[in-house]
Amino acid sequence: MAEVNRLSLARRLDRCTVLGPGVRAVIWVQGCPLRCRGCVASETLPFEGGTEHTVTELADWLCGLPDIEGVTLSGGEPFAQAAGLAALLDRVRERRPDFGAMAYSGFRYEALRRGGPDRRALLRRLDLLVDGPYVASRRHGLRWRGSSNQRLVALTGRYAHVGTEPDTSAGVELSVEADGSLSWAGVPPAPGFREGLEERLAERGFVLRAEAGREA
Ligand code: SF4
Repeated sequence: MAEVNRLSLARRLDRCTVLGPGVRAVIWVQGCPLRCRGCVASETLPFEGGTEHTVTELADWLCGLPDIEGVTLSGGEPFAQAAGLAALLDRVRERRPDFGAMAYSGFRYEALRRGGPDRRALLRRLDLLVDGPYVASRRHGLRWRGSSNQRLVALTGRYAHVGTEPDTSAGVELSVEADGSLSWAGVPPAPGFREGLEERLAERGFVLRAEAGREA
């Protein structure tokens, strides 16, 4: 695995209950090579424009968050920065061996397994994967996923139980950030959610941060 100590992020969130099991931190990486029609996170697609962070800084941040189950890696495409994210999980687990890890990917699990060493290294460190591109025609109000082609792939026993739980939308969460700005996270259960929310908030004088939730 290549040694990488930097990650380009679109956004991060301390606490979230709608993008994976329990209470989790979320990291949205910047950049995705895919272009799914209807992607709700369009501002995370270019590989330029993210905020640079060191693995050390992000590990310190994650280890300092109280009462979280683990982290969800979203984007953008986490496997486009696989080496840095694998290194991040290693650094965190040196201090918190029980730290859970879930990731989204627009690639299918089988393709990731056949991928390069960095992608396989990140896969080996995950407990749960949501795989596959977002397909608008297969939109469905499923738990943590935007369309019915996407699978919840348990890679360890840690979250194996989620496959037996009700598979319905976990909804979205609104957050007020430390600087007073509003943002949201989650997988919208209905098309046009983001546009509608932004419109209604604008009518009341609120501006939603550009960074979004997760479609795939
Ligand atoms: S839905 Fe996901 S995989 Fe598809 S373009 Fe958007 S970020 Fe990339």
